[in-house]
Amino acid sequence: MSHTDEHSGRPDEGCAGCSDEAQARHHGRRFTPDEQELAEAGAPCGTVGVAVAVHPGGAPGGHPAGVPMTRQRHGGARSTGFRPGGGPQALAYEERTGIKAPRIIAWEITRSCNLSCVHCRAAAEFGHYEGELTLDQIKTVIDDIVTISNPIFILTGGEPLMRPDIWEIVDYVHEKGGMPVIGTNATMITDEIAGKMASHGIPRISVSIDFPTAEGHDTFRGQPGCFEQTIEGIKIAKRHGVGVQINTTVTTRNAEYLEEIHTLAESLGVDAFHIFMLVPTGRGAEILAEELPPQEYERVLEWAYERQKTSPLHFKPTDAPHYYRIIRQLAKKEGRKVTREEYGLDAMTRGCLGGITFCFISHTGDIQPCGYFDMQLGNVKEQPFSRIWTESKVFNDLRDYSLLKGKCGACEYKAVCGGCRARSLEITGDYLEAEPYCIYEPTGWKPTS
Ligand code: SF4
Ligand code: SF4
Repeated sequence: MSHTDEHSGRPDEGCAGCSDEAQARHHGRRFTPDEQELAEAGAPCGTVGVAVAVHPGGAPGGHPAGVPMTRQRHGGARSTGFRPGGGPQALAYEERTGIKAPRIIAWEITRSCNLSCVHCRAAAEFGHYEGELTLDQIKTVIDDIVTISNPIFILTGGEPLMRPDIWEIVDYVHEKGGMPVIGTNATMITDEIAGKMASHGIPRISVSIDFPTAEGHDTFRGQPGCFEQTIEGIKIAKRHGVGVQINTTVTTRNAEYLEEIHTLAESLGVDAFHIFMLVPTGRGAEILAEELPPQEYERVLEWAYERQKTSPLHFKPTDAPHYYRIIRQLAKKEGRKVTREEYGLDAMTRGCLGGITFCFISHTGDIQPCGYFDMQLGNVKEQPFSRIWTESKVFNDLRDYSLLKGKCGACEYKAVCGGCRARSLEITGDYLEAEPYCIYEPTGWKPTS
């Protein structure tokens, strides 16, 4: 695919989704490996993602207590302290195969959870789940993954702190050159657990908060008192020097409270605030009616663009690939260019990275492009991860933007956006079809019916 095919061809629209080669041709210079990694690591989604707004120089395993914040001109402080996923192994793999390596892997190390949240991707509940990967199996998978990359491992669930051997998993990831972070509901965090997070080199945790008050949050999370426990857990983690990111899943129930949640995040002194657009799979499918209508979705993303200008937090929408289209449209209106200098990682990354530099491993070892993409591409108990990553037809389809159909296929923003493939799969049954929640009509595109 030519660079112009992948891209609008209009230089004022930036190049966030270009391949590295395309970036190099377009800009007349090649990004350094660290810059490439930062760009590709910048937008994980499809799970309880943990931001990887990272500093290339950060030592693996070092945690970021007291590390200064740097600020983008567009807004959104970027916390520093741990390195991006990938490393030299990833570059060598890409050189060898022509395929990008996974930079971030979200790993549902258990499906067991102490809560029953309304929107849960995993529809997780308390109790033991048959067929969960054992510690030995997890170690074998890590051994294989590090032959092609040293990624960031987002250890998630369910509630990953329910797993008694979590610290052995964390240590093994470090030992093999990966970077572990944890997605947790924070209700189980005590001084002892936060101390372990710090001593086992967890640079950051992500914690979901969906309402600024206990009433809404506890109803959504299915457990009275959970809001207070979560806030307390965040405070304890911060006290121990563990970085915290707050995630909010946006639905019709809470869209009007986003500013208040941002204020809460600031008052708690967390490092990052990410808003997740609901992808209605798992238990979330039951609240399909609460997904924002497309126009409202667009409005929230425009609000995020404005809010990002002044937010002291690393603030960004996730599971919202059209945000990378909206950034370019609004920047153009303002007479600005989406450059790395002005927009930081937002200028360098792409909306949907599922199967491109990101994927998900389920509690039983199934591999998916992301946690919301309801299709299993192989199982690590039967095949090495590296083979599935390299050979899966679905992964390879997702990497080829020329295969996108409908208006996404015709869109001048497909390289920077790509649409949410999980949503297309869920709604149309075809992961390459047009993204159903995008109101944009590409230039020259005519609906067929
Ligand atoms: S049409 Fe598809 S690729 Fe274009 S902005 Fe919308 S979702 Fe993104
Ligand atoms: S398919 Fe959707 S939810 Fe999954 S990684 Fe892409 S944008 Fe995120």
